[in-house]
Amino acid sequence: MNFELSDEQKLVRQTARDFARQEIQPIAAQCDRESRFPIEVFNKAREIGLVNMTVPNEFGGGGWSALELGLVTSELGWACTGIAGAFGLNTIFGDVFHVAGSREQKREAFGRLQAGEFGAYAVTEPVAGSDVASIKTRAVKRGDRYVLNGSKVWISNAPVAQMFVIFAKTDPEAGHRGISAFFVNRDTPGLSVGAPLGKLGQRAGPAAEARQEKRTFPFERARACARSMKSRRLVAARNSRVTGYTPANLVSILAPSSRASTPAPETSAGTETKAPARMK
Ligand SMILES: Cc1cc2nc3c(=O)[nH]c(=O)nc-3n(C[C@H](O)[C@H](O)[C@H](O)COP(=O)(O)OP(=O)(O)OC[C@H]3O[C@@H](n4cnc5c(N)ncnc54)[C@H](O)[C@@H]3O)c2cc1C
Repeated sequence: MNFELSDEQKLVRQTARDFARQEIQPIAAQCDRESRFPIEVFNKAREIGLVNMTVPNEFGGGGWSALELGLVTSELGWACTGIAGAFGLNTIFGDVFHVAGSREQKREAFGRLQAGEFGAYAVTEPVAGSDVASIKTRAVKRGDRYVLNGSKVWISNAPVAQMFVIFAKTDPEAGHRGISAFFVNRDTPGLSVGAPLGKLGQRAGPAAEARQEKRTFPFERARACARSMKSRRLVAARNSRVTGYTPANLVSILAPSSRASTPAPETSAGTETKAPARMK
């Protein structure tokens, strides 16, 4: 078995290495001191394909695998782990759509990532970190609506995210199998995000804290019309391979007054739009 990187992978790694040295390392210490997420650097990285790397070709992305993502993340992390972490968060958000999204959901989520929006991935709660099966957030179906109720902590990029995937219990008796994922717009009534969280390190990567007793938690009773409420049961094996949360239904909760979405351009399958073509 050949463990050598391909020429294309070496090019990806070198591009990320150059970018880290030229664009991130010079500002890393200051961003960390000021707890500032450099959105202008994020936009530059997006333009040359160093973020949103796993967005499939058919939705206008680079279609890279976890290996290339790892190469890029380790190079960017050399310069600043906070910035590298924040750059990578959209990919974690996107994982949910890879394993559980309908075509319509993928088109919306990936299209909005490609257009420059941020996604946040909200699992952790004050009493449930490693033990995801213990989350308390509830999603209750009432007619054509879901009512979500709960609080999340340590949600990376929440301060800048326009889209959230929120994990909630739809069947509390079923343990880890009773968890569903909800695709929620930031402007959904009832969703609130706390102030950026102070940290001991990685301060350039924004995260929000939730405090239920002070009502500054990221969301409370997020209530909205649910679209695509087909509640597909997904194949557990496929889910666990990528996210570890099984099985997840992915339900879109889009505020009725919802913002104009920016769907991804439909490109013909097989069109090669991989990043090197767009990289310097
Ligand atoms: C900067 C930052 C960004 C984050 N971003 C996100 C995000 O975007 N979205 C999100 O959902 N969450 C996020 N998190 C939360 C993160 O996923 C949790 O911190 C993590 O899951 C650990 O949970 P915990 O902090 O509650 O620690 P705990 O689960 O309480 O674990 C504490 C320690 O005990 C160990 N431990 C726990 N259970 C066991 C066991 N059964 N056996 C042996 N050892 C065990 C752990 O390894 C750890 O060392 C973020 C956290 C940080 C610090």
